[in-house]
Amino acid sequence: INWPEKTKLMQRNWIGKSIGADVTFNVDGCDDKIKVFTTRPDTLFGATYMVLAPEHPLVEKLTTEERKHQVEEYKNSVKSLTEIERTSTTKEKTGVPIGAYAINPSHNKKIPIWIADYVLQSYGTGAIMAVPGQDERDWEFAEMFDLPIIRTVQPPVDFNGKAYLGDGPAINSNFLNGLNVKDAKAKMIKWLEDKNIGKGTINYRLRDWLISRQRYWGTPIPIIHCEKCGEVPVEESDLPVKLPYDVDFKPGGESPLTSHSDFINVKCSKCGSDAKRDPDTMDTFVDSSWYYLRFLNPKITDAIFDKDKAEKWTPVDMYVGGAEHATMHLLYARFIHKCIRDLGLLNSNEPFTRLLHQGTITYQGAKMSKARGNVVNPDDFTNIYGSDVFRLYLMFMGPFEMGGDWSDKGISGTERFVNRIYDLFEQHKNMLSEVNPSIEYNLNTLSQQEKFIYRKTNQAIHKVNEELEHFHFNTAIAALMELLNNLKDLTACSKEIQAYVLNRFAVMLAPLAPHLGEECYNILGNDNSLFENPLWFKPDENALVEDSINIAVQVNGKLRSTIEMPLDSEEGTVKDAVFSDEKVTKHTSGKNIVKEIYVKNKIYNIVAK
Ligand SMILES: [Zn+2]
Repeated sequence: INWPEKTKLMQRNWIGKSIGADVTFNVDGCDDKIKVFTTRPDTLFGATYMVLAPEHPLVEKLTTEERKHQVEEYKNSVKSLTEIERTSTTKEKTGVPIGAYAINPSHNKKIPIWIADYVLQSYGTGAIMAVPGQDERDWEFAEMFDLPIIRTVQPPVDFNGKAYLGDGPAINSNFLNGLNVKDAKAKMIKWLEDKNIGKGTINYRLRDWLISRQRYWGTPIPIIHCEKCGEVPVEESDLPVKLPYDVDFKPGGESPLTSHSDFINVKCSKCGSDAKRDPDTMDTFVDSSWYYLRFLNPKITDAIFDKDKAEKWTPVDMYVGGAEHATMHLLYARFIHKCIRDLGLLNSNEPFTRLLHQGTITYQGAKMSKARGNVVNPDDFTNIYGSDVFRLYLMFMGPFEMGGDWSDKGISGTERFVNRIYDLFEQHKNMLSEVNPSIEYNLNTLSQQEKFIYRKTNQAIHKVNEELEHFHFNTAIAALMELLNNLKDLTACSKEIQAYVLNRFAVMLAPLAPHLGEECYNILGNDNSLFENPLWFKPDENALVEDSINIAVQVNGKLRSTIEMPLDSEEGTVKDAVFSDEKVTKHTSGKNIVKEIYVKNKIYNIVAK
């Protein structure tokens, strides 16, 4: 997929795929076992203690009598913290030992079991083996509580940090010694599997997505809660479950649909007894995960979406949206799309082939906000300048993906540009009733001025094509501004060429300033709409190449003149021109020409003494 690298990286980190191993530790003196997931099974010999999440189910059972009070106190102190606070790398490490010990299976020695808030019950197994030698967080914790630190990877000689996370030969690790990290991992996984105390596994940071919301406005969850049967799906023939409109959705601490008795009370679709619908609705991100499929034909009633249309129109070629959706909408949509594909309803693997994030428009250098009072209201400006000027100015402000800073002065510059265009077309009103321009002209049949304008027009078409294709709207507009400047001598051209040029100008305007483009197109005398059958012109390839070129003339290493010559002129022709140029002869007359070097189409060098 052609997406910004940064967005892909954010998703990759969010999914957080890590390859490692599950390792089972026995608890000293009882039959309980503690399973951990580690991405570094190669460091098992350096596991000097173990940490459980305070919420881990074994904590209560394993805590020794004399530790009970301290452990309870600690558990209570953690309750008020969010996961982000708990896992913050800058937060001072806290934790307490529970008095029990686990057996490190690599050397069968006892290691103490602690609880600490930085281990989350919701990630992995809620337990970790701590390897301070190779993990910064574990090192910090070990230092704080005076726990042993054993390096199992030899850091480079010039390494003077604490935990070493890089590659190197294994040390203090018995049968792994000397192996690099990758090989040591593989060997340890094999060893664990052979001994039946662990196995290689893949873990994800990704959590489940809780989709129910206690809101009225949303897609009902098609589940019926029956006292006898439990959660029963609504019969397919009764789908979709429709939201009632007469709902009191004042906040009352529970889902608004709960109080709508006609909606909420139903018969169980399995046993027929009185039951209740699920009162929650789905997170709107569920809907936005597949709307691009449904919107193709929202009227279809016998399928989730129109399969034929989806086949034709998806994946979406170009998707534009804010970067803030990187790990939400843009991730959900990919998952749902792949799920629908796996159900056999789609052939494509991705919902959006190409993704672009629009930049932010700031004002006075800051993000617009009501609180700051620096909000630019589009209506104020469209009322004065019209929507085309407003739109053009937004596009011209800066690269699409970067945005820019709003300026009241800037928009009046755009207005002047628009007025100049409008005046130009007004001067050529109904021109097409007099002449009928060709699709292409032979350059040799054109006058000097016509040739120049014909070239500039076709070069602009080429440039605007390219820039629009890449969402470079600002440079596309700049190309039109340049073209407008190059049309000063338009009236010196034949009427046919004038019409040829202006027709193309109007068409190029259309995607950027649709009202203006259409109006200009009609002023010329076209009686159809530009948008009926969208019209676009291909540039005349012959006109894209310049037939003359500027050649720099140097005398003794100093630039003395620039002469315009036909493209690919031979040395003799150029020499004649060079020595009839006063700016050159001024520096060569009365001197001996020692050497002349001509680089075709570029430079003419003279050494004179
Ligand atoms: Zn039932």
